[in-house]
Amino acid sequence: MMARRPLVAGNWKMNGLKASAGALEAIIAGARGLANADFMICPPATLVGHFAALARGSRVGIGGQDCHAEPAGAHTGDISAEMLKDAGAVAVIVGHSERRHYHCETDAVVRAKALAARRAGLLAIICVGETRAERDAGNAHAVVRTQLDGSLPDRPADFVVAYEPVWAIGTGVTPTRDDVRDMHRFIRERLMARYGEAGAAAVAGQGVRILYGGSVKPANAKDLLGIDDVDGALIGGSSLKAEEFLAIASVYR
Ligand code: PEP
Repeated sequence: MMARRPLVAGNWKMNGLKASAGALEAIIAGARGLANADFMICPPATLVGHFAALARGSRVGIGGQDCHAEPAGAHTGDISAEMLKDAGAVAVIVGHSERRHYHCETDAVVRAKALAARRAGLLAIICVGETRAERDAGNAHAVVRTQLDGSLPDRPADFVVAYEPVWAIGTGVTPTRDDVRDMHRFIRERLMARYGEAGAAAVAGQGVRILYGGSVKPANAKDLLGIDDVDGALIGGSSLKAEEFLAIASVYR
């Protein structure tokens, strides 16, 4: 079985101005010494073109945070996967819990966006994860299973799954190692059940990677990223500071 190469991705959310380029440049410089993983920064859409130009030829890819499912049309304020690609992006996050919650995105919408990413030649980072109430009710697996079934494309190519328990995002609280291991194993089993061996390895030389996201910090990175079936991280707050992002990424040194 071909090993899955870790991916460390930063989601800047609605943060960052042109003046934030220094943080990206520091991440680019730091990533030069980290050959064992892939790196991605997803700035707000206004910075994708600028950052892609700065990152050209480096070990850091630039991604979008969302895209519309259509390639073009009357969708004021939206951005298509093709536009992100044109601006220099190599990836796009779809189905982040903030999009699912604040923009009422359903699994079907998320799946259409993941397919749009593929159409445009972008890697889709497809987010799933349960709320605290859903976990407390014993429904975490059922919720994630439904999200996977509804949000993932039928062919296992060009996407990454990010497991992000909603209650761990931006809260400083993380699940236990056992809970992360259990959910990542569950997701891996679902991928294998749906795609066969392709759900685990050797898809486009990569395999479907499962990232963990939710309050990943330098202090907990080694613990969380050392768990079986955790193939990297999706990082929010700590990705805004180069030294924190690089401290997390250094787990893969
Ligand atoms: C996120 O928004 O994807 C995320 C994981 O945020 P944080 O790391 O701040 O919890």
